[in-house]
Amino acid sequence: MSDDIYCRKPSNLTRTADEQRCREYSQTCHTLRPDLNDRTLTFSAARLSLIAVTDTFWLTIEDRKMIKTYSYAAQKPTDKLAPFQIERRDPGADDVQIDILFCGVCHSDLHTARNEWNNTLYPSVPGHEIVGKVTAVGANVKNFKVGDLAGVGCMVDSCQHCASCAEGEEQYCESGFTGTYNGPVFGGENTYGGYSDKIVVKEKFVLKISHSDNLAAVAPLLCAGITTYSPLHHWKVGPGKKVGVVGLGGLGHMAVKIAHAMGAHVVLFTTSPNKREDGLRLGADEVVVSKDPKEMATQTNKLDFILNTVAAPHDLDAFLNLLKRDGTMTLVGAPDSPHPSPSVFNLIFKRRSLAGSLIGGVKETQEMLDFCAKHGIVSDIEMIHMKDINEAYERMVKGDVKYRFVIDMATLKEQASAA
Ligand code: NAP
Ligand code: ZN
Repeated sequence: MSDDIYCRKPSNLTRTADEQRCREYSQTCHTLRPDLNDRTLTFSAARLSLIAVTDTFWLTIEDRKMIKTYSYAAQKPTDKLAPFQIERRDPGADDVQIDILFCGVCHSDLHTARNEWNNTLYPSVPGHEIVGKVTAVGANVKNFKVGDLAGVGCMVDSCQHCASCAEGEEQYCESGFTGTYNGPVFGGENTYGGYSDKIVVKEKFVLKISHSDNLAAVAPLLCAGITTYSPLHHWKVGPGKKVGVVGLGGLGHMAVKIAHAMGAHVVLFTTSPNKREDGLRLGADEVVVSKDPKEMATQTNKLDFILNTVAAPHDLDAFLNLLKRDGTMTLVGAPDSPHPSPSVFNLIFKRRSLAGSLIGGVKETQEMLDFCAKHGIVSDIEMIHMKDINEAYERMVKGDVKYRFVIDMATLKEQASAA
């Protein structure tokens, strides 16, 4: 059993029953990790879920049933994704169980499945743009009931104690948030994402979905929506601001729609001249083909803020030059290798900033969903069959998506029942 133990910061400090068993387990853990005094321990593959650890080192453990779950997984970086059976925990008191209806396909899924960030735990079941219906709730769950629509984004847990968590910025949790997939960062069992028929998530990390029609097109809001809304909101994009969006993919097309709805003047920068018309239709006021230096020159010193969503290394100076004095370019694209270093002079001569931003907190994600519902914003999607995921990845690498693939999870369920 000791092999199955890993350790994380506490999320719940309740101390209850079965102290004898707790003592035994805590002893095992203590032997493994003498630094555990203020940490939570989780028993995963051992099918035991740890509820608490306190300063006196008492643990409460409950036996958990597991739920058979169908998924698509990559087993190694060079493998195609293929059917794979996993297990979900039976919902605990604070958990919500969701029957997944649709899951968006983020470029981060591809980076992870192929180990492009060098941190993938295999088997890897990607997917963090999840919408579905609640099928079970634990005794403490207050805001969801069976039959409700629900969403899950990029996170399923965080320490809940650090300053970032206290401020509702769980994505910057000082212990590291638990990702919906590729979750625990040290030891322990992997987390498995939304390319699956069901998921069990702590209520705290489950989102309310208020636009019920075109549910499939709501799924991408759970990552692409919040990853663009959060920096646009943080850097106060709105009326009177001229905002650049670089790259018209999943994130970029959401950024164009959201910045437009926030009232900004939006300039889309794309490497693909054939996306010009779409850019305007989606809400850009101007479209610039970034490979054309003459078109780029028309924007020099004109932009208050740029959101750069490109998934590959490129010349940042070409865009930093377009910022006004005191302007900021925020990177959300996360390429597998570094951008060439930007020139310091472009920054210092106009007091420009180069920044980064990571998804968004739970509260802000709900705010974004409500904002999008109010403004009638959903993603432009291409619906795919689960079995076509590998082909979808190939098209995503070529920038050939209009503008987010979404998996119809009924196709996985059909496949599972036929097997
Ligand atoms: P995507 O749908 O593939 O879109 C990326 C877009 O970048 C492409 O459509 C393309 O638009 C542009 N691009 C320009 N040159 C490119 C090149 N050489 N290779 C690839 N794309 C190029 O990807 P996405 O899902 O929007 O994700 C974008 C990036 O953000 C990924 O790296 C992803 O991992 C990252 N991400 C970060 C966060 C965060 O929290 N910071 C969250 C989610 C995703 P044009 O054709 O218009 O040039
Ligand atoms: Zn994502």
